[in-house]
Amino acid sequence: MIPLLPSPQHYLQNLITMTSPDAKRLWKRAIKEHFNCHCVYCGKHYEINQLTLDHVKPKTYGGEDLTSNLVPACQTCNQGKGSSNWLQWMRATFGYRPRRESMILTHIS
Ligand SMILES: [Zn+2]
Repeated sequence: MIPLLPSPQHYLQNLITMTSPDAKRLWKRAIKEHFNCHCVYCGKHYEINQLTLDHVKPKTYGGEDLTSNLVPACQTCNQGKGSSNWLQWMRATFGYRPRRESMILTHIS
């Protein structure tokens, strides 16, 4: 039986206490599961271990390690996006995808 994991919101609220590697691993896993193991950019389903976590606002631009700034992305999308603006990159790569865009916007706002 799969244990019930707290939501990403729960982890965000408890970020301050999240110091152990185990807690960090569970937190990252919870973000991927929150999106049902889909890459938020291309929309494809992946095995949980094949997904990376992308900083929506790149670290180089001050993006933080917060749930609200982390989304699951496949390696291709993560590398393709790089430190580009996510929305500009997504539209240039996949065209206008309103449902995916609003899903990401909801998560980061
Ligand atoms: Zn992808």
